[in-house]
Amino acid sequence: MASRLSRAELSATERALRSRIAQIASGERFLRGTLSERSSKCGKPNCRCADGAGHTSLYLVQSHAGKVRQLCIPKALQDPVRQAVGEFQELQRLLREVSELEWKRFLARKG
Ligand SMILES: [Zn+2]
Repeated sequence: MASRLSRAELSATERALRSRIAQIASGERFLRGTLSERSSKCGKPNCRCADGAGHTSLYLVQSHAGKVRQLCIPKALQDPVRQAVGEFQELQRLLREVSELEWKRFLARKG
């Protein structure tokens, strides 16, 4: 494939996609995985969970090196972790879009 792209040969759309990627990559936290909310009962007979829906916990589940691993996310970190998971998904989506443009550029190449 040819050398580096010059900014001038990119469409406005592609420039916007690439700056968003750079913005996320340089300044945002991102985490790969799926969030899973689970509820469980602690077993204490007098706890409010005994006849309710249980205590809810949030887990981040991720496949890693062929295995599934998970993190239990404490309440105080749930918002930032949700945010980081969202950033990862956006980054992935943006990368796929830029890859798609590269694919089309490849098909349209001369020579
Ligand atoms: Zn309980």
